[in-house]
Amino acid sequence: MRYNTKNRQKILEFIKSQRDKYVTINEINAELERQSIKMSLSTIYRYMDYLETEQLISKHIDANEKKSYFRYTGDNPACKEHLHLKCNNCGITIHLPADILENANIHNFKIEYDSSVIVGICEDCQ
Ligand SMILES: [Zn+2]
Ligand SMILES: [Zn+2]
Repeated sequence: MRYNTKNRQKILEFIKSQRDKYVTINEINAELERQSIKMSLSTIYRYMDYLETEQLISKHIDANEKKSYFRYTGDNPACKEHLHLKCNNCGITIHLPADILENANIHNFKIEYDSSVIVGICEDCQ
């Protein structure tokens, strides 16, 4: 498999620029097309898997839509210790305080913050 470092850099730049927003593979692909970069969806998927392994992104899989969403978290390690709300309309992320579940009885449940997202509609989109 041939890696095109420059194209991968473009993907990273794009998800970084979408700060606090979850993006789909299709949105990444559309941005690459806009920049006249040709990259197969499977290559993009593989690169996103790599970024996830490197802990640079968070991945959220929506079981209903059967879609994966990605958000850049490389500059925000605290995101691994709190929950997030995601707007279903604009994709914006709201970071919740780390201690929000402090007084809730969560049965010693160890939450995987990386893959847990609460979805809904943000204030601006209502
Ligand atoms: Zn966060
Ligand atoms: Zn919204």
